[in-house]
Amino acid sequence: MNSVSRLKAKLPTPLVRLADLAYNYWWSWTEDRVSLFSTIDPALWQSCGYNPVALLESVPDERLWQVAEDPHYLNRLLQLAQQFDAYMADYDTWAGRTAPELNYDRPIAYFSLEFGLHESLPVYAGGLGVLAGDYLKSASDLGVPLVGVGLLYRQGYFHQRLNRSGWQEDYYVDSPFEHMPLELVRDEFGQPVTVKVTIRQRIVRVQVWKIQVGRVELYLMDTNRSDNDPVDRWLTGHLYGGNQETRIAQELLLGIGGVRMLHSLDIDPMLYHLNDSHGAFALLEVAHLEMLHSGDGFGAVTERVRQRGVFTTHSPVSAVSNVFSVDLIESFFGDYWPRLGLSRDEFLSLGHRRPEDPWDFFSMTVLALRLTGRTNGVSQRHGDICREMWQGIYPNPEAGQGPIKAITNGVHARTWTAPLIMDLYSQHLGVDWSTKLADPALWTKVNAIPDDELWRRHSILKERLIAYTRSKTLTARQERGEAADDIKAVGRLLDPKVLTLGFARRFSPYKRGELLFYDLHRAIRILANPRMPIQIVFGGKAHPQDDEGKRIIQRITEWCRHPALRDRIAFIDDYDMYVAKLLVQGVDVWLNHPRRPEACGTSGQKVSLNGGLNCSILDGWWAEGYHPGGASPNGWVIGDTNPTDDPDSQTRRDAESLYEVIEHQIAPLYYQRDRSGLPRRWIAMMKASISSCGPRYNSDRMLADYVTQMYLPEAVTTAELVMASAMP
Ligand SMILES: *Cc1c(COP(=O)(O)O)cnc(C)c1O
Repeated sequence: MNSVSRLKAKLPTPLVRLADLAYNYWWSWTEDRVSLFSTIDPALWQSCGYNPVALLESVPDERLWQVAEDPHYLNRLLQLAQQFDAYMADYDTWAGRTAPELNYDRPIAYFSLEFGLHESLPVYAGGLGVLAGDYLKSASDLGVPLVGVGLLYRQGYFHQRLNRSGWQEDYYVDSPFEHMPLELVRDEFGQPVTVKVTIRQRIVRVQVWKIQVGRVELYLMDTNRSDNDPVDRWLTGHLYGGNQETRIAQELLLGIGGVRMLHSLDIDPMLYHLNDSHGAFALLEVAHLEMLHSGDGFGAVTERVRQRGVFTTHSPVSAVSNVFSVDLIESFFGDYWPRLGLSRDEFLSLGHRRPEDPWDFFSMTVLALRLTGRTNGVSQRHGDICREMWQGIYPNPEAGQGPIKAITNGVHARTWTAPLIMDLYSQHLGVDWSTKLADPALWTKVNAIPDDELWRRHSILKERLIAYTRSKTLTARQERGEAADDIKAVGRLLDPKVLTLGFARRFSPYKRGELLFYDLHRAIRILANPRMPIQIVFGGKAHPQDDEGKRIIQRITEWCRHPALRDRIAFIDDYDMYVAKLLVQGVDVWLNHPRRPEACGTSGQKVSLNGGLNCSILDGWWAEGYHPGGASPNGWVIGDTNPTDDPDSQTRRDAESLYEVIEHQIAPLYYQRDRSGLPRRWIAMMKASISSCGPRYNSDRMLADYVTQMYLPEAVTTAELVMASAMP
């Protein structure tokens, strides 16, 4: 009996379809997601980490029967189950019509070290993973035949808690795989399917879990088996934990293990798509299989490997990202390169940019660039940076070896848009709005939404964010044993009528999370201005080994306690997809001001889908998304377009610009109200933001671009043309 059947056997008969929904993440991007599982037991839903399988397993039978006799609930469940069945059975998809060359017999294998599908599956750390999650969801929606390949981490990414002095404490929690929407993959005898990988001269057995993401399957590998050495069982213990040795072992598992796993599942991918370079060892194993199959040598098969490889690079800087020392490469691959018929130097040169480069590092990005035929950066500007950065790799760009293309990232609209706003879109853009996301004509209908209705719903979402921030802050202060007065003060924290800024991202120094406090006096003057007050909500983790990032968080928490600012600044700890949704759906303005260059950035795109406004440096996606003209500008720009080389003076100028924009543009506009109390010009900007960003920065447009520019053999048509003519 498989897991779904086991769960069904436990449920009251009228509720059995809940098991099908619980085991497919499709539920997480339906409009019913708010109440489908939470109405069963809201407190348990929260304590289960919004994991529907754990909820249904642990809720008392008596409560299940109460739900099972509620005709309204049963009616909704029936409708949803029908919608789900129709979705799963629909083969008349965008990809089926536009790209029949792609088919499910030979899917695209999408390799990623992290996947951010939902807060209940903590195998993501940040933007790269969330992008991979959104990618799978759009692949499912558009019918692109794709399987995901990754690792299942026993304790996922670390959790964050701030102690009394504002210092980040990291801790890990075990994921109960047996009680999650996963299925261990078994062979016809009921035994777990395993593949073997040699790591540090030991055989490691890897088992495989399947996760259903709509129509797409995601396979995650895990080494926590009793027949493995105790040390090796922890190879898939943590995401981005451990040292470089753990990291190379994980990348070896992902790449080489991933290819072997697909082989043992009888999946013969048409293409191998690497989401960043962590999975690049896969290409070596593909070459190895090809050599065994054809009898040719490594040199002869590389062109065939390149034809099957697609590489999306995410780094905006070449030197530091994903490199291993040659010592590590030797100890992990010393017994592997002979299989490819390569000498040590030949093997090492695959990870070197130019012969004159220092020989002590092996770059995974260079390996991926060399062994894939199609490469792209993740925004138009990032594409330019990559072409310049990596031109030395391609000896002969005219011979079809380059250049690097650019496909700007987008976000999955139905995941990131608040159900209250999606409901408005259904009313004014049409019930099928989410199937035509790339159509600009659809989005101009946003202008038909009544101002007061858009404002009312936005205000509810802002209150929702404030309520959540207070409740999290209250718990945190109680757990830290803070003074009674400080605990009581939570009731005054943040005000729904006040202009609300948001800033949430990784606290790495280059993100410059404290730019707003560059000049504390000025910051206080602006935030605590009694006529035009401003408040801000922060969130985000610093990497466990990044003490500088932790110090930035600590300074922000000090400002949270500053007498002039204490009701105006909040820090939500343990930023994850759940917190991210509340933030991007509830803020008035989203700030983004990293040091340049930034690859793309996606959280601001989520904000725009919800009617929030972006205030960002002109880089990444905003360099192409920002429109000052038209009926109304769609956001704000800070800093100058031509940054200087001196980071300190650049930061001073960016801070200066941030203050100017907030004080003289954002705040006055927000507080300018008509007689009915509505900020009409602000609402016009909200609509301009939705209608200009909506059609472009969604993941359906992104997927269509990948299909037409990277996947199809004749990747020549532009996605705009295809989307306009073929989207339903
Ligand atoms: C969207 C998202 C990110 C990526 O945001 P950036 O703007 O690219 O920094 C990171 N973490 C979470 C939880 C997200 O939802």
